[in-house]
Amino acid sequence: MTAPHRVTAVPDVPAAVLGWRTWRVGRRAQQRHALFSPLTGTPWPAARPMVAACASPRHTPPGDTCPCGLYAVADTTTLGWSPSDHEVLGVVALWGDVVEGQYGWRASHAYPRFLVAGPGISTEQRAALSRRYGVPVHLVGSGPRELARRLERSDADALRHADPADVTDLLAAACRRPDVPAPRRRTWRSWLTS
Ligand SMILES: [Zn+2]
Repeated sequence: MTAPHRVTAVPDVPAAVLGWRTWRVGRRAQQRHALFSPLTGTPWPAARPMVAACASPRHTPPGDTCPCGLYAVADTTTLGWSPSDHEVLGVVALWGDVVEGQYGWRASHAYPRFLVAGPGISTEQRAALSRRYGVPVHLVGSGPRELARRLERSDADALRHADPADVTDLLAAACRRPDVPAPRRRTWRSWLTS
């Protein structure tokens, strides 16, 4: 059973689904400590849940036949990445209405649980993101994209269900594993647009 998570910024949600996703960290001065959805550019609020929005007035996200909702996947190798070195990886808690799909989930409510950043995000930015969102921000020297590409499913599952106190050790162990090329798969983005 999953240990209760200790995100202080949001209420504890024992029934939350835990999945992987990416965010983009802002580049402009006033956005350097903020997380954005990489596809839509929507800012993620700190200390309160991200709530999904949809342009359709006919339903509330996540829609059954509409791709709206806040996304996360189980397997990090299915995540799509932009060329930006300002994208970070992380585990997100999803709750409220949650729809399961082929690669993961779409939900009405979400909040990050921990983040993994590369050297493209400065020490000062990592510390500020951690303070602002109330979650740990881990540095991986090879970068989050490389970690996501080579993270074995068993490691990905252990990490997304881990107590935040254990994430540092689990990440270090996963980074030490020999690199085995992952098979080509459809990416999260191709799933999103299909
Ligand atoms: Zn919708």
